[in-house]
Amino acid sequence: MHKVLAVFGIIAVLLLASCSGQAAQPSTDPAEAGGNKLSVVATTGQIADTVQNIAGDAIELTTLLGPGIDPHTYVATAGDITTFQNANVIFYNGLHLEAQMERVLEQIGQGGDITVVAVADQLDPLTLLNWEPEAGLPYDPHVWNDIRLWTQISYVIRDTLVETDPANAAAYEANATTYARELEELHSYMLEQVEQIPQERRVLVTAHDAFGYFGRAYGLTVEAIQGISTQSEASTADIQAMADIVVQRQVPAIFIETTISPRTIEAVKEAVQAQGQEVTVGGTLFSDAMGEPDTPEGTYIGMMRYNIDTIVAALAQ
Ligand SMILES: [Zn+2]
Repeated sequence: MHKVLAVFGIIAVLLLASCSGQAAQPSTDPAEAGGNKLSVVATTGQIADTVQNIAGDAIELTTLLGPGIDPHTYVATAGDITTFQNANVIFYNGLHLEAQMERVLEQIGQGGDITVVAVADQLDPLTLLNWEPEAGLPYDPHVWNDIRLWTQISYVIRDTLVETDPANAAAYEANATTYARELEELHSYMLEQVEQIPQERRVLVTAHDAFGYFGRAYGLTVEAIQGISTQSEASTADIQAMADIVVQRQVPAIFIETTISPRTIEAVKEAVQAQGQEVTVGGTLFSDAMGEPDTPEGTYIGMMRYNIDTIVAALAQ
């Protein structure tokens, strides 16, 4: 009996907390809300960090997918849906990256009260890599791996914020210009670093095919055990095929990803060794999620630097 009362007590406290939480959210157009900050939700860390760089303290930002979370397979919880519904603006990647959330995000966008933007959908299709058009999946969604494409996306984010919150337009525009300059420096850094890898060793082997844009932008041939999505499992045949590529091309190192079990990469390593060749695991790359908050890898720029430094250290030796 006491237990039941205690449970009711907890529920009452939670209800009060959630009511007061909702009351703090801007429930109307922020321009009319009298000083309330724009409430913005971003699905991936890459998008959230870019929003943060452009908006600074002018908004309240919620990031949905933390370190190590795979966006291809993530299913929105009831709490996530509430978070979406309380937002003024939602940014998501699109191009079927958040495959399990796309429908609900589209539906929320159709409601008209919340600005919902699939940032990668705004890119010029001529700049995108193909995926499986015959399966209704026209383009590879991993666009953040080409910094020039991501700069275009930073402008999409800027323009959305300016339109939704014109009171802070000047700040959004100035911050976006500064950030674009930092991205340009990062792009140059990446190109310089790749130069350290001998031409014949510029092969990037990963667990799933997240680095297509990276390879195109920075001059590496990309080979992955799994496809562009992680929604289907890698087979023994996939492992063997990848081991054959590593042996043929004498690839010195292959890479694990933070959002994927290291099992398949380790299996490739064993299969390569079974053929009498050595290959090392060159490190863990941030493919679809960023690092922990308050670390360099918890930012887009830091993550990209970490990835290229890790790749160069393993392949250039
Ligand atoms: Zn992916």
